[in-house]
Amino acid sequence: MRLRDLDGQFVHNAHAGGYFIRGGDSVDGAQGVLFQCPSCGVGKPHGCDSERNYIEGDHYILVFFANPHGAEVASPAADANPRWTMSGTTLDDLTLSPSVDCTKGGGCSFHGWVTNGEAT
Ligand SMILES: [Zn+2]
Repeated sequence: MRLRDLDGQFVHNAHAGGYFIRGGDSVDGAQGVLFQCPSCGVGKPHGCDSERNYIEGDHYILVFFANPHGAEVASPAADANPRWTMSGTTLDDLTLSPSVDCTKGGGCSFHGWVTNGEAT
């Protein structure tokens, strides 16, 4: 599914215990990306408002970048997970490497790739 249909949003100002939604379309200045889980969202109803397309009741996946543009790498205090290498300029062409594996925590079966703005 497209990140746009998974309520994809860039985040910045990550700190111990949180982060802020950056808003806007550009990856510049973003420390990471937040999007809903394409696996757990299967069969759930879709919703939208003026700016966002989302899946009702689906959980979110947060990925911080190893190579943010115009922002510092998020500190380990903000999130202990590894950092992903990103390329692209917006939600529509964002690519992350390596794959995103959510299966280790239990309860989620998503292990996939974000390529050219699509989570598969
Ligand atoms: Zn999931």
